Amino acid sequence: MKRCQVVGATVVDGSGRDPVAVDISIEDGLITQVGASGAHGERLDAGGLTMTPGLIDAHVHLGLSSPIQPQFSFRISAAEIAADIFATAGATLDAGFTTVRDTGGVDGGLVTTIAKGKVRGPRVLSCGPVQCQIGGHGYYGADWEPTELWNSHHLPGLCALSMMSGNADELRRNVREAFRRGASFLKLCVTGGVVGAHDRLTDTQFTVEEIAVAVQEATARGTYVTVHAHNNDGIRNAVEAGVRCVEHGTDLDESTAALMATRGVALVPTFAVVEQLLHDTVGAGLDESTRDRVLGVRERMTEALAAAKEAGVRIGLGSDLIGPAQNRRGEELRLRAQLETPMEALVAATRTNAEILGLSGQVGVIAPGAQADLVLWNGNPVEDPELFADPANAVLVLKAGRVVKDLR
Ligand SMILES: [Zn+2]
Repeated sequence: MKRCQVVGATVVDGSGRDPVAVDISIEDGLITQVGASGAHGERLDAGGLTMTPGLIDAHVHLGLSSPIQPQFSFRISAAEIAADIFATAGATLDAGFTTVRDTGGVDGGLVTTIAKGKVRGPRVLSCGPVQCQIGGHGYYGADWEPTELWNSHHLPGLCALSMMSGNADELRRNVREAFRRGASFLKLCVTGGVVGAHDRLTDTQFTVEEIAVAVQEATARGTYVTVHAHNNDGIRNAVEAGVRCVEHGTDLDESTAALMATRGVALVPTFAVVEQLLHDTVGAGLDESTRDRVLGVRERMTEALAAAKEAGVRIGLGSDLIGPAQNRRGEELRLRAQLETPMEALVAATRTNAEILGLSGQVGVIAPGAQADLVLWNGNPVEDPELFADPANAVLVLKAGRVVKDLR
């Protein structure tokens, strides 16, 4: 039995409760005690630091860690794509994120490799390839390419951005294929998107009946569907079809927000990627025109967040960072802290995200029985949320009781 104690820290436990100064006991990767306990095992001195649960990013794309357009134009080798993905996985831990939900782009082999400890990285839950309709959001190939060629952009076992379906039967086949390759939930694109020039943000994609096929397949495996959705019609189609989560939600209106609350559908807004695309489109390996597509999205997403909150929707947190610059994942908490309180941003990134991922009580919380995923911050990020954004402030990071970063 491996035991240790983290002593001397101020603890913000992820539930929204006020910080308290307590010691944490860990055995075999799990938290066993919060508060007084006998001294045994290794002692990690965290005096002067603030402890939070390991952060959770509910919307990541580890498989999109290289410059986007070169990656999908066969200009970057498989070896380099793998190196870039591994670097992002490590940088994610360094930023204090010990669990992520990959919403499109990694194949099961990558998830297993990180889980085995062969590559530094967070706990990963993945949907495998995104499900999109032919030529819909998620297709990054050239206009001239025959649809059948798209899957040749996959690097089996490493990354697979999306699968295209022409009808409900093809979608059923593709989601079964995604599960076979390691998906633990599904993601469908039900509206156009910001990245990609084949559609408009106002387009809806897939019909209610088609989305319901994916919901049926996910339900049969005890899991759920989330959707990429910007416009309100697409969000409503997805909610009517029975999905459990909506990503982005840019143009969510009050009545659809109310329907989401009634049906228990969660929202994951994504502000960091919007900032990224506004300020460094080229750095992500994307065309300048992408910036035009993102104009106005930040303001509308801010209104959607307010509407969702008012309606009582469960609201998680996701960065959606893409391309090589994914080291400042905590930007999402910094941005959310400006729109809500820093504590609300932290709770969204811990307890609420754990609920959305189906890992409630296991991660995103500092309590007996939970995974000992802990971050010790140089300062109190609930008082100064700027701290979340700079990985240098995550001084000590533990994943399942193991020290994975130590700057002390
Ligand atoms: Zn995304």
